[in-house]
Amino acid sequence: MKNNKKEKVIIIGGGIAGFSAGIYALRAGFEAEIYEKNAIPGGECIGWNRKGYHIDNCIHWLTGTKKDTELYDVWKTVGALDDEMEYAPINSFYTSTYKEQKVTLWNDLKRTQEELIALSPEDEEEIKKFIQYVEYSKQCLFPAKKPMEMWGVKDYINMGKTMMDFPKVMKEFGEISLEEYSKRFKHPLLQHLMCDYLPKSYCTYSFLVSYATMADGNGNIPMGASLQMSLRMEKKYKDMGGKICYNKGVKKINIAKKKATGIELEDGTFIEGDYVIPTVDTHLLFNKLLPKEYMPKELREAYDSPKAYPATSGFQVAFAVELLPNEGETIFIDMDPLCVGQRSFERMYVKSYGYDPVFIKDGKTVIQTCITQTDEDYEFWKSLSPEEYKATKEKLVKEVKLRIEKAFPEYAGKMEFLDAWTPLTYERYCNAYHGSYMSFVTTPMGKQIKMKGQLKGIKNLYVAGQWTNSPGGLPVAVASGKFAIQRILKKQRKSIEI
Ligand SMILES: Cc1cc2nc3c(=O)[nH]c(=O)nc-3n(C[C@H](O)[C@H](O)[C@H](O)COP(=O)(O)OP(=O)(O)OC[C@H]3O[C@@H](n4cnc5c(N)ncnc54)[C@H](O)[C@@H]3O)c2cc1C
Repeated sequence: MKNNKKEKVIIIGGGIAGFSAGIYALRAGFEAEIYEKNAIPGGECIGWNRKGYHIDNCIHWLTGTKKDTELYDVWKTVGALDDEMEYAPINSFYTSTYKEQKVTLWNDLKRTQEELIALSPEDEEEIKKFIQYVEYSKQCLFPAKKPMEMWGVKDYINMGKTMMDFPKVMKEFGEISLEEYSKRFKHPLLQHLMCDYLPKSYCTYSFLVSYATMADGNGNIPMGASLQMSLRMEKKYKDMGGKICYNKGVKKINIAKKKATGIELEDGTFIEGDYVIPTVDTHLLFNKLLPKEYMPKELREAYDSPKAYPATSGFQVAFAVELLPNEGETIFIDMDPLCVGQRSFERMYVKSYGYDPVFIKDGKTVIQTCITQTDEDYEFWKSLSPEEYKATKEKLVKEVKLRIEKAFPEYAGKMEFLDAWTPLTYERYCNAYHGSYMSFVTTPMGKQIKMKGQLKGIKNLYVAGQWTNSPGGLPVAVASGKFAIQRILKKQRKSIEI
């Protein structure tokens, strides 16, 4: 008699990659079980409440909101977006200020060009080039149909046709850091503008693509905040019959005869499965869940060279304030130097969240600020005792508040502290390496990490999650879950159309 028992896919982690893998596994006819250490879904894509206010922890821009793109199809398939989705009414990427002057990167590129030239006519040529290359970068769409190792000649030809101008961007800006690029501008505010958003060691093309994504309407913010998006994916997964076990940390992936056979939970329970898809941080994966020797060489090299492969996190503070016009704006300010972690900072951003009712209570809303932290700053936070950690945070909150009040006198005396969190928060909550909530920064000194998901010496194990493809982020996470299932199907010689 034919055995109709479905094969079981065990997924470690209930973040965006985990739910994506789960939903695509169910679509492909597998049974799916997710094991998540926390009590709720979402991983890094979450939010939490303080004093009755909602603090959003994730989406500043969601690549793939433009219909008729491959990534949009994926977001729709996993239930994160639908055709009726409302997006935040925000018409700019961000604003930078310096010494009483300000400029904005509008979604309307023409408006940006005019504003930048009005600020600094002597930079006109470089500004026009900037805008032109952002325009070219609109062609850079995230390929989410299938993993690249499954691409055929036709796929490359199609990509070539749709991305005719993008090679110019890579040629000119593929290997130059933002810090270096910013020096091409004479005006100090423009220099700040170029370095404000991403860590300045980032390759410039990443910044151009980010801005192009916003300007092209392909990087909107879904209304309802990040946690709601994760909850929509959880619902879709459950409605399809997926099983999720919360508060179930995974201790180990079991391997027998060079094949993944299941997992062991922190509580000692063994769970058997036909396939295992870890979506957790790869540092945890190869230092705890699997023996170290399975770590791919390119990843080992990245962890060994933090200068070429920095991991970034943030020191963040949220306050409640009265609603003001221009809600949704992200504004970078110059400030008196402030030492956070190991380094001194003279810039930080303030983002107001009043564009969405979910962040509004009694006529007040949330503002948040973030100061980028990296590997060396993480070491600082890690070295503190619990008392020192608490005291350092408290002191920094006061300092941050003073600086916001100086830049925005309208908030003075009216800011209510809600919460402050550090790289250690992400380490505790998601087991994130050095508290990093993206994968390695793509710098001119490093190569882009591109893992194919399978590991030498272990069958039936397919790695997913944002760390499989630097610099990570939501698009990588959601596509990686789909790709893991397509890789299984390919191995089984089945159709990968799911
Ligand atoms: C402040 C902030 C802003 C961001 N802004 C953006 C943005 O604007 N755009 C964008 O694209 N991206 C953004 N990101 C990044 C984005 O959130 C992540 O790229 C994405 O959520 C990663 O998803 P993932 O599923 O790969 O990993 P994770 O979210 O880390 O999911 C892994 C899951 O595994 C769980 N886990 C860990 N260890 C174990 C274990 N031993 N057993 C069981 N479960 C375990 C974790 O709890 C977690 O739920 C931001 C992140 C943050 C924090």
